[in-house]
Amino acid sequence: CGIVGVTGNDNTVKILLTGLQKLEYRGYDSAGIFVDSKNREDFLVKEKGRISDLRKAVGPEVKGTAGIGHTRWATHGVVSVDNAHPQVSKDNRFYLVHNGVIENFQDLKSDYLSDVPFTSQTDTEVVVQLIDKFAVEDNLNAHDAFVKALGYLKGSSYGFLLMDREEPDTLYVAKNKSPLLIGLAAGYNVVTSDALAMLNETHEFLELMDGEVVTVKPDSVRIESKTGEVVEREPYHVDMNA
Ligand code: GLU
Repeated sequence: CGIVGVTGNDNTVKILLTGLQKLEYRGYDSAGIFVDSKNREDFLVKEKGRISDLRKAVGPEVKGTAGIGHTRWATHGVVSVDNAHPQVSKDNRFYLVHNGVIENFQDLKSDYLSDVPFTSQTDTEVVVQLIDKFAVEDNLNAHDAFVKALGYLKGSSYGFLLMDREEPDTLYVAKNKSPLLIGLAAGYNVVTSDALAMLNETHEFLELMDGEVVTVKPDSVRIESKTGEVVEREPYHVDMNA
């Protein structure tokens, strides 16, 4: 339902929680965040109910410099902490948040992932386990495993935001028939499904097209077309206040 991400800011936790709170108006049933930092203080927190409950569960102490967050509107699987996002691969390496629906998740699960122990009923977990499978079995980096997995999703809608614990300052982004924007801030970057969630951080946003794959680091944004060419795009200014 709602997606937020940050890389390159010491206040990542605060920015994620504030962003999720701004998305509350859209409606949701559960929410979660995953945060990492170069010194490997990573954590995952998920809760049913309000963002204020998630905020309490996170506590004031936790720090991180990159992270992703999600408000879920359940389409596959009941409302539960296990089904809330981020969804995690079996080796706790990849973390994925997802807006939308994976139409062929059942086929993917039985054709490629029959030996994987699933911890949720979501269509989303199939994608994060598939990314992990390709990374491990084909010895691919996160980017290439992500691109490969995207090629297996038939007729689906998605906004994806992916983190790999091996590259804790990098966010991988892709979308199809579901909105996602990259926000360019001063010395860091953000990702969101709705500019409203990030207007405290920036007013400069890059629009993404269906099929593009984007690599976001604290000081760079690399957009690739469906066919792998680098795309140059100017940001647009959102003239609205938070
Ligand atoms: N299909 C996913 C799920 O049920 C994502 C739903 C959403 O867009 O929030 O977990």
